[in-house]
Amino acid sequence: MRCSQLYFPTLKQPPSEAKVISHQLMLRAGMIRALASGIYTWLPLGLRVLRKTEAIVREEMNRMGAQEILMPNLQPAELWQESQRWAAYGPELLRLEDRHHRPFCLGPTHEEIVTQLLRQDVQSYKQLPIVLYQIQTKFRDEIRPRFGVMRAREFLMKDAYSFHRDKASLVETYHHMHATYQRIFTRLGLNFRAVLADTGNIGGSASQEFQVLAQVGEDTIFYSDKSDYAANAELAEYLSAPPASSEAQHSLEKCATPGQKTIEAVSTYLAVSPMQCLKLLVVVGSDPKKPLVGLILRGDHTLNPIKAEKIAGIAHPLRLAEESEVVQQLGAPIGYLGPLGLSIPLIVDRDAAVVTNFVCGANEVDQHFKNVNWQRDLPLPEQADLRYAVVGDPSPDGQGHLHMERGIEVGHIFQLGTKYSVAMNTLIRLENGRSAPLEMGCYGIGISRIVAAAIEQHHDERGIVWPETLAPFQLALVPIGYHRSTLVQQAAEALYQQLTEAGFEVLLDDRKESPGCLFADMDLIGIPHRLQAELIPFLKQQRIQASPAHLTL
Ligand code: ATP
Ligand code: MG
Repeated sequence: MRCSQLYFPTLKQPPSEAKVISHQLMLRAGMIRALASGIYTWLPLGLRVLRKTEAIVREEMNRMGAQEILMPNLQPAELWQESQRWAAYGPELLRLEDRHHRPFCLGPTHEEIVTQLLRQDVQSYKQLPIVLYQIQTKFRDEIRPRFGVMRAREFLMKDAYSFHRDKASLVETYHHMHATYQRIFTRLGLNFRAVLADTGNIGGSASQEFQVLAQVGEDTIFYSDKSDYAANAELAEYLSAPPASSEAQHSLEKCATPGQKTIEAVSTYLAVSPMQCLKLLVVVGSDPKKPLVGLILRGDHTLNPIKAEKIAGIAHPLRLAEESEVVQQLGAPIGYLGPLGLSIPLIVDRDAAVVTNFVCGANEVDQHFKNVNWQRDLPLPEQADLRYAVVGDPSPDGQGHLHMERGIEVGHIFQLGTKYSVAMNTLIRLENGRSAPLEMGCYGIGISRIVAAAIEQHHDERGIVWPETLAPFQLALVPIGYHRSTLVQQAAEALYQQLTEAGFEVLLDDRKESPGCLFADMDLIGIPHRLQAELIPFLKQQRIQASPAHLTL
């Protein structure tokens, strides 16, 4: 490809809306342009990288025995109603009507469609297992599209679905897919980690995310420094603090704490550590007879809603009670709540359950208790893991301690189990003549997000530095004086032709611009190998061989 013919409108300065480096560089390098919030056109350079990503994913999916199909974007509402997700998916699902006023949505994912496909044609266990995949545009009406193609509303995903006669077969394919994902992200040149994840509203039992490590990542991941335990923050576990030591119990005191409503304020005012203060958060209960539930955590810990909403008696999704509900039903103001004397169901975090001589609200304005002790002053309520892990927590497998990193989720694998086959009545005949619902797995890769994630990991102060496997071109030829010297031009053209014929993807910069401008653009778009200036001696030296060794000059 000749630069003079390539459409890559580069920018000197990043537009102000681009907050992260990958978004800035993709715009500056003329890889993408925005059409509307979270909706992008891919220009030639960007599309070449997108297609390379796609090709690696496709190759590895085919290698593992998955078969490619292409399903429609437009999906009839009936299937989503059948799976109960028409209501559950919420406003991220873009809904529309056809001219006959029949409801449809633009597919954010394809579990319903692929289950519908299979139930028409697969009746017997003998036809299983089957793994199908597609590489296709998804639409999700994200509440906060941002970071360019990283969190877009329209984006390219590889989604695969597997179907099995039983759980054992599902688990086998899940492991196979895990290994395939390892190969894919390694080939893509990414520094990544596979982490345990929550199964969220897709449902199912086991799930892992593949996270590209990057500061701008929206996800937080914890991993052990001594074992391969790794999980995202929503799920990360840890070993709790040991039971209370034999520290002497002091006598209970009620203290005036005028205007001190937060843990920080109370701990400073009473000169105790936040670890010694317990906070009580009131959430909505799932049982109408017990509409409010109190959750107790150590002052320095943060409630993990994903863990809390899985506990019986707590509404799913978790919702904090309104201040008016709390005042009306408990007669106590937020900021001064505590477990002592409170008549709603209480659940205490495992680490809060072992604190002695703690401080907590006295359920009265401007009042707190000091030196409260479980068992002595109030019964110890039900215990649970309610909090997010923190750096330094002991790893749940007993090996090492947890460290934290930020990650960009580029892939996700799920064991869905029978969630969709039961909801959509998809049965297969077994050997014994009985029928059973299909076991199912689903496996996503964010193809377009990978392009941005790769740039986050591969750039320098001058621009993108593509890994070999993703680069839009392998080699840039940047002759100096192309328009001034016939000799340079001939040499450049000859070299361009030889290299192209030898099968390399070469970008010849034949633009009539200053060398500084050519170099700056080449630095920006990040072609891994570059030949500039001294073409003639190089050409004289020897004829180019089709060997990559010659390219690492
Ligand atoms: P996230 O937590 O980032 O919203 P998700 O759990 O909703 O991701 P999945 O439903 O598992 O994502 O989708 C599979 C893959 O598609 C993700 O791992 C991610 O790489 C990609 N992806 C999801 N949402 C977007 C988006 N809005 N823009 C670009 N890629 C996305
Ligand atoms: Mg999402």
